Amino acid sequence: MTLKPDEFRHVNYLWDDNVANQLDAAERLRYRSNILGSDQRITNTGGGNTSSKIKMTDPLTGEDVDVLWVKGSGGDLRTATHANFASLYTDKFLSLENIYNKAGVKGVKTEIEDTMVEMYRHTTFGLNPAASSIDTPLHGLIPFRHVDHMHPVSVIAIAASKDQERLTQEIFDEEVGWVPWQRPGFDLGLVMKEKLKQDPDLKGLVMGQHGLINWADDDKACYELTLTLIEKAARYIEQHDKGDKTFGGQRYRSLEEKTRNEIFIKLLPALRGKISQANRFIGTVHVTESVLQFVNSVDGLRLAEIGTSCPDHFLRTKIKPLYIDWDPQKESYESLAEKLEDRLIAYRADYAAYYEACKQPNSPSMRDPNPTVILIPGLGLIAWGKNKSESRVTAEFYSLAIEVMRASEAISEYQGLPRQEAFDIEYWLLEEAKLKRMPPEKEMARNIVVVIGAGSGIGKAVAHRVAREGAHVVCADLSEETAQETAGELVKINGLGIGVAGTGISGCGPAIGLGVDITKRESIKCMFEKVLLAYGGIDNIIVTAGIFVPPDNHGYIPDDKWALTYGINVTGPYLVADEAKKIWQSQGLKTSLVITTSANGAVAKQGSVAYDTSKAAANHLVRELAIELSPLVRVNGLAPATVVEGSSMFPRDRVISSLTKYKIAFNESESTESLREKLAVFYAQRTLTKSPITLADQAEVAYLLSSSKFSKTTGQIISVDGGLHEAFLR
Ligand SMILES: [Zn+2]
Repeated sequence: MTLKPDEFRHVNYLWDDNVANQLDAAERLRYRSNILGSDQRITNTGGGNTSSKIKMTDPLTGEDVDVLWVKGSGGDLRTATHANFASLYTDKFLSLENIYNKAGVKGVKTEIEDTMVEMYRHTTFGLNPAASSIDTPLHGLIPFRHVDHMHPVSVIAIAASKDQERLTQEIFDEEVGWVPWQRPGFDLGLVMKEKLKQDPDLKGLVMGQHGLINWADDDKACYELTLTLIEKAARYIEQHDKGDKTFGGQRYRSLEEKTRNEIFIKLLPALRGKISQANRFIGTVHVTESVLQFVNSVDGLRLAEIGTSCPDHFLRTKIKPLYIDWDPQKESYESLAEKLEDRLIAYRADYAAYYEACKQPNSPSMRDPNPTVILIPGLGLIAWGKNKSESRVTAEFYSLAIEVMRASEAISEYQGLPRQEAFDIEYWLLEEAKLKRMPPEKEMARNIVVVIGAGSGIGKAVAHRVAREGAHVVCADLSEETAQETAGELVKINGLGIGVAGTGISGCGPAIGLGVDITKRESIKCMFEKVLLAYGGIDNIIVTAGIFVPPDNHGYIPDDKWALTYGINVTGPYLVADEAKKIWQSQGLKTSLVITTSANGAVAKQGSVAYDTSKAAANHLVRELAIELSPLVRVNGLAPATVVEGSSMFPRDRVISSLTKYKIAFNESESTESLREKLAVFYAQRTLTKSPITLADQAEVAYLLSSSKFSKTTGQIISVDGGLHEAFLR
């Protein structure tokens, strides 16, 4: 019996006939998938799949054929569109069973299983390029019109319990059967088909150590059945909840938020440096009541060692997390840092031993042996991934694993996947092939780049440029509003990512916008602390912030404006470097700093003494810092000249003052951009290349100086001025 819409307490019932009835059959499948995926208690990000068998017109014969639409490889149910579903001729797919049966050696993990995945492409309906997933046979071989395969916490809790078969029967009666753990593939589809043959009344199956699969001939009925089964499991777990005795009770107490963040800020760059020696990682801090209850508990260490159970969890979380047994009330930060160092070494050795013990003759070589999930009592969970999205998915997966362990320990005893089975998933040749098919990583992937001055002009162009190279971009500006605008543009272009985790600022996407006043050390420090909580470290810094105060008609600059010019153009970048130095040294990774100076730093002329001398000082600051920060940080200067296009350095009054100075005719009623263009054309004629200098020209060089392409260059000033012989450095 399925429950009524208002009877669900543990899942969100979201089906709306008014929406569904407007849609065709394929779109109804997309709709069902999205509403299932939108509830973490029903399935995790990227996990699970759905299918419908739909009558369609064959483009080759014009006849009606049956088509299996099933969520394809990759993607995510919550965000899936029509393009994420593979389509296969149902009869052609079913005929593959003959090929499978003809294989001499067959069964789980045999060669024919992996070969079958390639065969699915031969059965494609309608030139659909979506790749079929390894779960396709689970849907194709079950003779019902609609199938949902989900990874709900409550059902995985049953599936990861010692007495999972008995629990399945107790909770679901005869309605739902049980199959033991088996790696997904054609053989698992056949196992399920056989189960149904023996018991045609079955409505679903609990899949050992994995999840839930169920079916119906009506799509709404299938959706309601999925929710009902999950609700039943969740209610059973609720009745057995251990309350204060969960995870054996509490052993440590959580730290206050302020203290916790202070420790994270110290710990994150050091930790990132230690785990990023081969590949850089991006961090996510995840602190919830549930995570804290786990890390502070008596059983936390024991359960963490067992590892995660759901196979698509540990592809991200690794077979187990690193739990640091540290007493937040009695032990110091230094003792935490020391323990971390020792435990990391032990973790890597343990991972190598696991690889050696489980590897097959054709296994891919060992992957990065560092942990991706780190648990610390009093503090919470830190997750690492190759980008922010993956890092958030990893945090999400482990927090779901905690829920699974909580529920499983409430109703039975939690057990992990056997190590060899875990290994055979982690190092599955199909997974390796998928990794190999991925495009190579971009130049600034895995990097956290802080652009100061990103609200407008060169800084904004630089932020866009490095984002195109895969960087995580912190857009900082005196105006927090414009910084956030630029960050918003980047997130719109690149997407927020798919993970659903991260506490506070750590729940961010690939770009954030922050306010900073670089004339104040405290403001810079505070901005960097936010960056550390958001991403876990800092790689490159590019300072484009600068100021030009036009002198009055007599060429006079008041003292306070002189001080402000130096404050922003010289002291500012120095303070940025000085504050970043502490973080960079703690992180211990090679990084770079680019300071924007100016062609004016080398050319003496009338009317801009404060600006020109400040830029000359900035040129020498580049050289001083290059020496001081070596060998960890390369420091270079970018010396633009007269980038007038959209520049906040060229406000209307400065443009008019310049036009007057150069005796260029203009009309007071003209727009600022039109006046700027007149000036740009004039400036271009003074250069050797006779070309106007654009924001894109500047952004390109700021990016190149920060990238590995200039890894052997430091202490240099690169002019991007169209060629001004007066500005040649010598
Ligand atoms: Zn699954």
